[in-house]
Amino acid sequence: MTVSRTRRRVLKEIAATAGVIATGSGLSTTALAATRRDADVIIIGAGLAGLNTALMLQDAGMSVLLLEGSNRVGGRVMTLDKVPGRPEAGGTEFGAGYARCLSMIDRLGGFPMEKWLDTVELPFALNFDGTLMPMSAWPDSPLNHMVGKERTAGGPLMGPFALTMMYAPRPSPLNGLDSWLLPEAAALDISYGDYLKSQGVSDAALRFINNDLPTADASTYSALWHHRLFRFQEFMGGIDGLNRIATGASRFPEGIAKLLKREIAFNSHVTAIRTDKDGVEVRTKGGRSYHADRVVCAVPLPLLREIAIEPALPALQAAAVRELPYDNMVNVFFAVKEPYWKVDGLPGSLWTNQPMGRLYHFKSDQGEYLWMNVRNPLSPWIKMKDADVMQDATRTINRARPSTVGRIEAIAVVNWSTYPWTRGHNVYRTPGQISRFGNVVADAHGRIHFAGDHTAATMMGMEGAMESGERAAVEILQLA
Ligand SMILES: Cc1cc2nc3c(=O)[nH]c(=O)nc-3n(C[C@H](O)[C@H](O)[C@H](O)COP(=O)(O)OP(=O)(O)OC[C@H]3O[C@@H](n4cnc5c(N)ncnc54)[C@H](O)[C@@H]3O)c2cc1C
Repeated sequence: MTVSRTRRRVLKEIAATAGVIATGSGLSTTALAATRRDADVIIIGAGLAGLNTALMLQDAGMSVLLLEGSNRVGGRVMTLDKVPGRPEAGGTEFGAGYARCLSMIDRLGGFPMEKWLDTVELPFALNFDGTLMPMSAWPDSPLNHMVGKERTAGGPLMGPFALTMMYAPRPSPLNGLDSWLLPEAAALDISYGDYLKSQGVSDAALRFINNDLPTADASTYSALWHHRLFRFQEFMGGIDGLNRIATGASRFPEGIAKLLKREIAFNSHVTAIRTDKDGVEVRTKGGRSYHADRVVCAVPLPLLREIAIEPALPALQAAAVRELPYDNMVNVFFAVKEPYWKVDGLPGSLWTNQPMGRLYHFKSDQGEYLWMNVRNPLSPWIKMKDADVMQDATRTINRARPSTVGRIEAIAVVNWSTYPWTRGHNVYRTPGQISRFGNVVADAHGRIHFAGDHTAATMMGMEGAMESGERAAVEILQLA
């Protein structure tokens, strides 16, 4: 009798310290005030958003623990260091207005930068409906059924690509970078197809624009989201302002990670978060449990959807997390065995109106490669094995550009649609989703804070990720 009571007490104490009395979601039911803390703040996700949050909180004197599901930092920033030419598979170009990224790069001691325009071969050659031509031939091509200014939009450099810019109102109706969230902007939260038709777009131009969107066609894409993107690009100074890190974009997140005092816990796939009035408990797939005062969740929405959160998010925020879509992207990289452009006399880069999208020819002192960037949601490559994608992609380019036969070789595939830690390329909005959800995905839920580019109100891409990390850190510091 005495033995059994002692045993029960010991077991209870162990459970209280380790917080391991499991419930259905794998979370403990222990009061969180009673548990030991692993850090002041746990941050989930070592992409730029999570890294920036961690560093800011560390700078402010807090202890942080960064849990990363994969075995590397950087998330959607990924330089393929072991692939010939060292291609960039993710975030690459830093805009002139990327104040947070650029000042962090300064803090890291600087990196050799190169102008994007000096590394990419422009103009593109164009393959339209199977006919290959220089971009300069496009305005007078018999295949060009566009009307008025559409025929020459973009000039010889970017050709029909610039059609979307032509139909973006100038100046932008969005005064500030965050004006897309204002109630008065909601009138533009309609289908981009309807918006283009209201601007007099021709059917031929609409078909071309459809091919360059993250959705199957413009009817399922919010015009306001497009305006936000355009406003952002305008602020960035367009393609003239773009720079890349010559030694690889991954040096940037790796540099931030080196400033963190505590080692990042890699291979920590977070599956559940529980909070109460005193603290948070974070569980990983491996069954580990961590405790802190607060948590910042800096993972893309397709992964956030799978994390059990207790207590549940408010209904609107939960719906936004569940419903906001990510676009697809399959990247295929090729080595140039022989300069095929010398054979057909056209530029190395190729723009098409087919599902294969575009082929960029990159060349700098660091190396040379071709980058095929397929966003089309109907592309069969999304679900194919990498080796099959390489074969099919080579055949597709060979058809679109016969001079490439035997002169290029597929060397790598990065499928962001199936990459386990992202499952998509970037968030976007369907018509009405901005009016409905605003930026609710950024709202703190008790002791749970959210970061990640999808929560940024002003900037986008890598700068948006940095902005979101800063906002989450400031939220916590204001409460400390
Ligand atoms: C092909 C491509 C090209 C791009 N080009 C540009 C560009 O030129 N310029 C630009 O500014 N931006 C660009 N971007 C966008 C930019 O890369 C992203 O906006 C930015 O890197 C996002 O950072 P993040 O920290 O928000 O998310 P992520 O980088 O996705 O980081 C999220 C992290 O969370 C981890 N994680 C996910 N789930 C879990 C979990 N359950 N438990 C633990 N960890 C988890 C992931 O492994 C990852 O490390 C590009 C993106 C892609 C894919």
